[in-house]
Amino acid sequence: MRYALLLVMAVITSCQSQNEISKIINVNGLEIHYDFLDKESAEIESEITQILVNGFEVYRNLFGGNPRDSLDVTYTQFSVEIRKSRYTKGEADPKIIILDWSEDKTFGFTNWKVGLLHELFHLWNAETFKYKDGSEHWFNEGFSEFYAWQTAVKLGVVTPEEVLSTSIYPIGYYNSSSGLGKISMKEAGKDDKTKFENYFLIYHGGWVSAILLDKDIRTKTNNRKSLDDLMKWLYKNFFRTKKLYDSNDIINGIKITTGQDYNSFYENYINGLETIPVSKYFDVGKASIDYNFNLEGKEKHKYLYKSLGIEY
Ligand SMILES: [Zn+2]
Repeated sequence: MRYALLLVMAVITSCQSQNEISKIINVNGLEIHYDFLDKESAEIESEITQILVNGFEVYRNLFGGNPRDSLDVTYTQFSVEIRKSRYTKGEADPKIIILDWSEDKTFGFTNWKVGLLHELFHLWNAETFKYKDGSEHWFNEGFSEFYAWQTAVKLGVVTPEEVLSTSIYPIGYYNSSSGLGKISMKEAGKDDKTKFENYFLIYHGGWVSAILLDKDIRTKTNNRKSLDDLMKWLYKNFFRTKKLYDSNDIINGIKITTGQDYNSFYENYINGLETIPVSKYFDVGKASIDYNFNLEGKEKHKYLYKSLGIEY
């Protein structure tokens, strides 16, 4: 019996190593070290590469430079470990992205391509410049999600119609999260337990905050400024070996780069317990109807469209 069991284990081990494929590719100035942990992942290599290469270029232009490692040295060489799974989830560290991907949409809307763009974004936001502690996850996670979707639309990975209808998900998850009004977005991110309990409050409250701020800055500055200016400023001023950022830096950074003061927004909705009144800032339903059926009505939503990555 013991012998038979060992044999089976040996077969499983050899299957695993047969299915695992490692390779290095050089493309568009990037060196990507792939670890495909199963055959299905290796089969979508070209789709993955296309997203990584195009996403990297969008982000490099957005931040004004290549990502930096934990010693603040810029790089264009990184690893990607990828496997097929029931759900899409991932993580990033300097020079490495790990992604579990699924063909199904997690939570009804998260597709793996946007998940990959989210993790790629973390090579800059989280790993090039870094938060002081977990209470900054509303920014770290929410704004990474915001840029992942915006970039997915810009790259044609997600259609304008899809991002408009998808935006309802984070707004809905945020508004129905049980921690709303009881624990602030900032407080909720502080430790792993409260972060897990308030996942939607932090991630989707953060995403809603990002869309709202970006759209509001564009509106007030006639599209001359946006959150992009904050991102460039963070990249330029926050080296992780020297200075970690916190929420005060974010609000100050927006003021410095765009001239707009969001101190009370922060105190009410991020640090405080009030619920963000989304409808005061935009109407996704109307923006969707006008995008699809009413050419003349589109102008009203032009900055919301921009925030979502839609050109019209
Ligand atoms: Zn993340």
